Amino acid sequence: MHTQLQIFKEIIEPILILDKEGYIIFANPSFENLSGYSYSALSGKSIKILFPDTSGNNAHTSIFSAISNFTPIKLGKEQPLYLLKKDLEKIPVGISLSVIETENAKVLIALFSEKTEVITQEQLKRANSFYLSLIEHNEDHIFQLDKDLNIRYINHVAPGLKREEVLGTSLLPLLPDEATKIRVKNILQNSFKTGKPDSYEINFNSPNGIIRYDTTVTPVVKNGNVEAVNLISRDFTNEYKLKSKILEHQRFIENLDNYSLNGVYIYNIQKGINTYINKRYEEILGYSLQEINDMSPEEFFALFHPDDAQAISDHMKEVSNLKKGEFSELEYRFKAKNGNWVWCLSRDAGFDFDEEGNVISFIGTFIDLSRQKKIEESLKAKNKEIESFVYIASHDLKSPLNSVKQIFNHILGRYALDPTVEEFMGIALRSVDRLRELVSNLLDYSLIEKKYQLEQVDLQHLIQIVSTDLRSLLEENKAVLDYGALPKIPAYRVPIRQLIQNLISNGIKYHRENVTPKISISCSEKETHYLFKVRDNGIGIEEKDFQKIFVPFSRLENERNAHGNGLGLANCKKIIELHQGKIWVESTLQKGSTFYFTIRKFLSA
Ligand code: ADP
Repeated sequence: MHTQLQIFKEIIEPILILDKEGYIIFANPSFENLSGYSYSALSGKSIKILFPDTSGNNAHTSIFSAISNFTPIKLGKEQPLYLLKKDLEKIPVGISLSVIETENAKVLIALFSEKTEVITQEQLKRANSFYLSLIEHNEDHIFQLDKDLNIRYINHVAPGLKREEVLGTSLLPLLPDEATKIRVKNILQNSFKTGKPDSYEINFNSPNGIIRYDTTVTPVVKNGNVEAVNLISRDFTNEYKLKSKILEHQRFIENLDNYSLNGVYIYNIQKGINTYINKRYEEILGYSLQEINDMSPEEFFALFHPDDAQAISDHMKEVSNLKKGEFSELEYRFKAKNGNWVWCLSRDAGFDFDEEGNVISFIGTFIDLSRQKKIEESLKAKNKEIESFVYIASHDLKSPLNSVKQIFNHILGRYALDPTVEEFMGIALRSVDRLRELVSNLLDYSLIEKKYQLEQVDLQHLIQIVSTDLRSLLEENKAVLDYGALPKIPAYRVPIRQLIQNLISNGIKYHRENVTPKISISCSEKETHYLFKVRDNGIGIEEKDFQKIFVPFSRLENERNAHGNGLGLANCKKIIELHQGKIWVESTLQKGSTFYFTIRKFLSA
């Protein structure tokens, strides 16, 4: 009945609509005001509850005779007529009763005026036309069904139907399928039985496509019996489609959330509590939302590993300053309910923002990294083992090789040898030299992870030293080394020197025929790291080899690599990893290569 009430609100005069036995069909808000009763309290009741005192009062008697005879009448003008309000106060009123006929029903409209004010013909007309247009022009389908569910009245019909054909026939054949027919029949019959309002939704197959109707069922009660039901069907196809889309989306999110490999949480920074966690969160960490929220913030934050406390606190600061669309990641350890430390990788993004765009709560997803971490740990241990083996082997090979070299030199210097033997001895000696160089490079490689001191290294100064060391190589090749202002950075001096030396000497070594080698080094400062560039104008590297050259012992087929063992760039990679940075190359064949590497600004030992 909402739509009618909506329109009735526009009528300023208090109005009641009655059937021919004086039962109340409608009461407008103005009447609710006047009487103190709500419409729902009056609906289906006899008008007698408002005018109980009929004995010896002609005016009262006249109301009922007018109602039963369907005669228009004005009351309360000559003789006082009292309306009994809900709070039992009696107030004098005037009533103008008029008869309205719709196609199938005849109703009475009672227009009230307070203090026996005379109701004008004009007011009456206005009220009547409101009532009629209300029903006839209402966009909703307003109709009444009798006990056999036949349509007694309908204002207008759905597309594809004809009003005169459906009037007097059952509603049920108009419904789309058996299941709907049974469902609606039950609802309607139940409303007849209990006298209670109800509602249902159906699809109607119209020639223009499916229309979704939402129908409210209001019983018309007389003498305690439900005589008919009034139905109002509203087309809410658009809302329904939208609602279905929202529901589908909701289902998608629910499934994603329930079956995801990720734990999900929403944390309210201001309240210091989690407002949501998903199933996977509970699986990984063992806590329920209740258990987590029963903890104080101190207890909760104590579940993060003490070694990660600083990182967590920095991360929380970062997260509370995130803007829409930004996120922040962190790896940390969290103590699960069973006491185990779980390695987690979280990604957090702002979820609720206040008007100034500050994060109120953030949403985070995380994965359990424990398995990978275990594999990583065992790989690291294996690598350490291999490195110490390489270290021991190369270290122990050094002195026998030196002895062999000494013996060769001794023989070559002391004895007059057959020229063929001498030539073979010379070849053997050069091989021994190459072997010594390889052993020495291997030793460097295995030594990188051995403890060096982290210190402030002045790179400008360091390069000067390196270029002095490489003077003969630079001069032999007429190479030009140029570098701008370079910073002082926290680094491991010995390895960083080795790295720069390697990159410069590669730049010279892999120069182009008849092109003066030029190597330039520059640095730019970024937010979290320094970015270095070492550029040469040499033979260049094919894109397919960009990764390969950093693998130990990998060497490329080219005119310049007669000497070397493929450990130089592998060494550089290891050194850069020690500085928590990255190294990569960009290059064009026959033009030159640029080696990039980064070094973290805030390096900790
Ligand atoms: P090595 O120089 O001992 O072969 P590296 O590890 O230093 O070992 O380099 C691996 C390979 O990468 C080299 O064999 C070479 O083919 C290629 N390379 C390295 N630096 C350059 C460069 N600046 N220009 C062109 N190619 C290069």
